[in-house]
Amino acid sequence: MNKGMLIVLSGPSGSGKGTVLKKFLEENDFKVSISATSREPRENEIDGVNYFFKLREEFEEMIENDDFFEYAMFNGNYYGTPKEYVLKELEKGNDVILEIEVQGAMQVKSIVPDCVLIFMTTPNINILKERLIGRNTESMEVIEQRLNTALAEVDYINCYDYLIINDDVDIAVRDLKDAIKNAKAKVAKNNNFIKYFKGEI
Ligand code: 5GP
Repeated sequence: MNKGMLIVLSGPSGSGKGTVLKKFLEENDFKVSISATSREPRENEIDGVNYFFKLREEFEEMIENDDFFEYAMFNGNYYGTPKEYVLKELEKGNDVILEIEVQGAMQVKSIVPDCVLIFMTTPNINILKERLIGRNTESMEVIEQRLNTALAEVDYINCYDYLIINDDVDIAVRDLKDAIKNAKAKVAKNNNFIKYFKGEI
């Protein structure tokens, strides 16, 4: 059995990647890893659903125990992908999606070079600012911090396999679907060739 495909989705906070991913998952069967974070829960966020919310010390203990597939410090908080779930699902042959920021994505790329990296963003920084303000979940200080982070994050776009501009949610969902379909077709074609080359088919 082929192992599952690991898909990494990154993009600035406020780019709408969470909304797009949620819509995508309504129609497509993928496993999604739930991250751990030391950030405070937002209103409506549920422990074990949105994140595993940890105290900073608890997160650091998990780092010590080598519990993370990848982790990063983002705007003063830890975020990390618990190792066990991802490895188990990939081993079972299931496709797994990680919604993580760029530092973590680069770590994943070095551990699993054949992962698929997808970057999603708003058409420009002004729209990102409007969305972050409209979301009304962070203070202006945190929003400014996230905008500065976004300016640094877009410099990584060339390290990604696909870029999706999220101007319209439905189009972005379709683009995400197409990118994954495309990546899967490439892997299937390559695997077929490998078998053919070895004389197995
Ligand atoms: P937020 O605080 O808005 O939920 O997330 C902030 C950023 O952390 C987002 O870009 C999100 O994709 C990223 N993030 C969420 N979980 C993880 C994770 O497990 N690892 C890393 N490296 N980034 C994460």
